[in-house]
Amino acid sequence: MFRPTRALLSAARAYSTVLPGTPRVAGALQNAMNQTAPRTNWTKEEITEIYETPLMELTFAAASIHRRFHNPADLQLCTLHNIKTGGCSEDCSYCSQSSRHNTGLKATPLVSVDTVLSAARVAKDNGSTRFCLGAAWRDMRGRKSGLKNIKAMVEGVRAMDMEVCVTLGMIDAAQAKELKDAGLTAYNHNVDTSREFYPSVITTRSYDERLDTIKNVREAGINVCSGGILGLGETKEDHVGMIYTLGTMPSHPESVPINALVPIKGTPLEGNKPLPFVDILRTVATARCVMPASIVRLAAGRITLKEEQQAMCFMAGANAVFTGERMLTTDCSGWDEDKGMMERWGLVPMKSFQRGGYRAKMEAEKETAAEQITKVEV
Ligand code: SF4
Repeated sequence: MFRPTRALLSAARAYSTVLPGTPRVAGALQNAMNQTAPRTNWTKEEITEIYETPLMELTFAAASIHRRFHNPADLQLCTLHNIKTGGCSEDCSYCSQSSRHNTGLKATPLVSVDTVLSAARVAKDNGSTRFCLGAAWRDMRGRKSGLKNIKAMVEGVRAMDMEVCVTLGMIDAAQAKELKDAGLTAYNHNVDTSREFYPSVITTRSYDERLDTIKNVREAGINVCSGGILGLGETKEDHVGMIYTLGTMPSHPESVPINALVPIKGTPLEGNKPLPFVDILRTVATARCVMPASIVRLAAGRITLKEEQQAMCFMAGANAVFTGERMLTTDCSGWDEDKGMMERWGLVPMKSFQRGGYRAKMEAEKETAAEQITKVEV
């Protein structure tokens, strides 16, 4: 008769503990894992429950959800180009470009269309498929010629078959429509943090004004890019609060940038201590669970993370990075460095317009427009 040895029994016992069996997750996290489409009716309690899940379990759940909605090998490479530096009238307490802080940054006028197109070409040649243009403005009121030039930049970048995103401060519905007509792919306007903590960070515009711009963007048919910054002095409840705002929008932002504060001398937050990495990872994983189909983007501050830490974030659902040039006024990992990292971890650059059937949608839009022209001609 076969008698299992003690070693065999203990090996079998050890093995049985990793069999798929009963999942240890329950409640809100199980609900997130069962999603087949994004849901926008999350409660703060559910998001808190997900955020507080033991980190290994949370990372595993986020990785599983990520695999259902995305190819886990894909990483979107995005390059951010500063088109107008400094001199901004807002008082965002983390920002070097606010004229209210003494950071020594010199304000510059809007750069030329040609400068932007050459920079976009360099970014494309280096593998970036999304090009983002950032201007340090409060809003677009009275900036008619600025808007005209920016539309020419958008058209030029789109002609290179790159996705194009802009961040220009607050915009109204008519300005959003103009940008949409120029071919804009996405508009970035971060909520920055939770509604509750927001007044401790910015006093010159309200949370609701931010949400109004996001609404104008969404209603114009432009993809929303909106996320926040960690390490502003907020609590974990504020991480949950920020994800709650984003995850309960009428439709989730197409892109959710997660920034880690880079304290800048001369700003009110210059002395802030860096956030523990586990808090960044937990926020990335929770964002992935709550907004399963969105792009979760490691943005400013990625340069402070070790390669292994970045890889943990990619495992937990982050699938885009800013690469190649300075991130507005802070440093950023370069293309060569990122290419090496991607090769080591088996990641591949995402193609432009690859996700969400964008390309098919764009082709269909083009066909409809052509049919309408033909009908008019007939
Ligand atoms: S974050 Fe934007 S709006 Fe705020 S001060 Fe900086 S440039 Fe101005």
